[in-house]
Amino acid sequence: MVKKAKGSAKRPKDLREHCRVPDFGKGFKLRDTDPGEKKVFRDRTEAEGAMAADIARIDELQDVLWAQARHAVMVVFQAMDAGGKDGTIKKVFGPVDPLGLTTTSFKKPTDKELAQDYLWRVHQAVPPRGMIGLFNRSHYEDVLVVRVHGLAPPEKIDQRYDQINAFEKHLAENNVTILKFFLNISKDEQKERLQDRINDPTKRWKFNPADLNERRLWKQYMSAYELALTRCSTPWAPWHVIPADRNWYRNALVARIVRTTLEDLNPKYPPAPKGIEKLVVV
Ligand code: AMP
Ligand code: MG
Repeated sequence: MVKKAKGSAKRPKDLREHCRVPDFGKGFKLRDTDPGEKKVFRDRTEAEGAMAADIARIDELQDVLWAQARHAVMVVFQAMDAGGKDGTIKKVFGPVDPLGLTTTSFKKPTDKELAQDYLWRVHQAVPPRGMIGLFNRSHYEDVLVVRVHGLAPPEKIDQRYDQINAFEKHLAENNVTILKFFLNISKDEQKERLQDRINDPTKRWKFNPADLNERRLWKQYMSAYELALTRCSTPWAPWHVIPADRNWYRNALVARIVRTTLEDLNPKYPPAPKGIEKLVVV
């Protein structure tokens, strides 16, 4: 019997499976995940090479998605402050044709939004067929920050997990493919990044002193995240936990998972009108 040399552990093939929270979180514990994991790509060079190819493919597939105008893809990003939501969107989707993308950042709800049910603003941001819609935060804030700060009655919040699953199922059954990413950074990495926002004059605008209060509630947020990831990872809208302490690793994983999802969707250019090849433009 040949013993495996140390460090030669097999690299995961299907990155969706590797990062995916099991359906309804069976056996899932956030504390078992490692924000610093590096099983998939050996180093930065390898990850960036893979990512460039994956992004080029995403761009090609997006063109077909748009031409076919049958499916929409909704990509949800959630993370703690400084977790890399903006950076991932910029790096993975920056090179993709902007005509095929919608991007929505969900902020503290306005009075108008608060006068409606919490999914009202979300439904309006769902991408139309043919487009990829990026969600920078999402309806999950309504079971995260809202839970941690008690912004709604507990029994109302408890009802939301099933409501979200039903909402996402409704979308999935109406040609919206849903991908959800939790960018998983460690508390130590968040400390570095927040400090960097303070120290770097070009990043100070990103620093919000209120983020320090949220940081103090790290444990409560992790419990709220675990509950959301567990109760709302479904066959029709799976959650993926992305190790996010290294930006290049995080970006490469997200790019590969988006690419694989688009490939599975397998969009096709619509059939050309009969006889078009005989037309001559004069
Ligand atoms: P940022 O993403 O840094 O611009 O911050 C947006 C802020 O809006 C975060 O503190 C979120 O927690 C907050 N936020 C987003 N959605 C909600 C919501 N539904 N209820 C309360 N706060 C929210
Ligand atoms: Mg912020």
